[in-house]
Amino acid sequence: MECIFCKIARAEIKTELLYEDDDVIAFRDLHPQAPLHVLCIPRQHISTLNDLSPQQTALAGKLLLTAQRVAKNLAVEESGYRLVMNCNGHGGQTVFHIHLHLLAGRQMSWPPG
Ligand code: 5GP
Ligand code: ZN
Repeated sequence: MECIFCKIARAEIKTELLYEDDDVIAFRDLHPQAPLHVLCIPRQHISTLNDLSPQQTALAGKLLLTAQRVAKNLAVEESGYRLVMNCNGHGGQTVFHIHLHLLAGRQMSWPPG
């Protein structure tokens, strides 16, 4: 499969991992939108949030806890951070393998653009 994040998960594209276990990995975004910009993804290919099933509830929770862990490891948990998951066109999704963006290191604005 030509999915770029599957290739990263299988280490076919060499990428420094900030966290990894059997289910999820976390790595820096190639085009950071904040001083800290990390992507947390499941190893399993799931195209969009729409494709997540109730059987994957634990995996979805694990993505959140992975972001929390990375935020703590990189010491931004007190200053704060934002988690974003884009879905399809209006959501601005460009890579169709679900990923949770962890953004930190600057003031975030609301509402998002
Ligand atoms: P989306 O727009 O789908 O929510 O986010 C996709 C993100 O993946 C973008 O922020 C983009 O910069 C990042 N990205 C795309 N290709 C690569 C890659 O090969 N390596 C890394 N580390 N990030 C990537
Ligand atoms: Zn994939």
